[in-house]
Amino acid sequence: MNAEMGHLSLKSMFAICDTGYMPTVEETSPKSVKVNVTAGTGMDIDWKDGHHSHYSFQYLRDACPCALCNDERVRENREPGQPRPSQPGMLPMFKASPKPVETAGVGKYAIRFTWNDGHEHGIYSWEFLREFCPCAVCSDLRTAAKAPGAGVTRTVPH
Ligand SMILES: [Zn+2]
Ligand SMILES: [Zn+2]
Repeated sequence: MNAEMGHLSLKSMFAICDTGYMPTVEETSPKSVKVNVTAGTGMDIDWKDGHHSHYSFQYLRDACPCALCNDERVRENREPGQPRPSQPGMLPMFKASPKPVETAGVGKYAIRFTWNDGHEHGIYSWEFLREFCPCAVCSDLRTAAKAPGAGVTRTVPH
């Protein structure tokens, strides 16, 4: 029997601990933010920890953190950024792709969009945006954190 202690490799990974994921200041502070409205390609953020995030406008619209959109997502069991499923029996309708008509900073902690469909109540904090970074690495982390048996119950003694 070889008793192996796995503490070395675990340290270099994101700790999924019992108190939930606490992002560092570096991770949630943008170094630069670009909103490419004219090109229509979405928003790019370079974070202080060196990570880069790209959000399409569609993703941002589907991730709108306002109470209304949040309720809707909970009802439909969607993650922020996940598109709405097409309703069975309904013909697909043409919808203009979402684009912000106005972008405004909210203090130092967030950004707000007024969308071309008139919606404007979502305040996207940097923390929120970093948490829902759509890149493969971050999506994998979110999936791992949600997997059965991960996180919450791990450290509870039986
Ligand atoms: Zn909303
Ligand atoms: Zn990412």
